[in-house]
Amino acid sequence: MECQRCLTGKEAKYRVYTDLIDMKVCEACADEARRLGIAVEVLDREKKKQRNGLRQLLFPLEHAAGKLHRFTHSCHQKAQRMLGDVHSSQ
Ligand SMILES: [Zn+2]
Repeated sequence: MECQRCLTGKEAKYRVYTDLIDMKVCEACADEARRLGIAVEVLDREKKKQRNGLRQLLFPLEHAAGKLHRFTHSCHQKAQRMLGDVHSSQ
């Protein structure tokens, strides 16, 4: 099967997917997808997908949750600093 993204006729060895896209792509396109933070799955593992499907689905979610945690944590620190400025009598 050929890459569905770059149309150079390279063999599609990976599957990239988000809520919006789900396509089979070549190695170069898979690398680009990884850089963009898109989930990439090796097509050879397709046979084991039933068993690993949940883990593969959960990983990007866990990743996003980690980012969100850091984001909210830094907001929390910023809020504490602002409060500290207000109550600077300490
Ligand atoms: Zn490609």
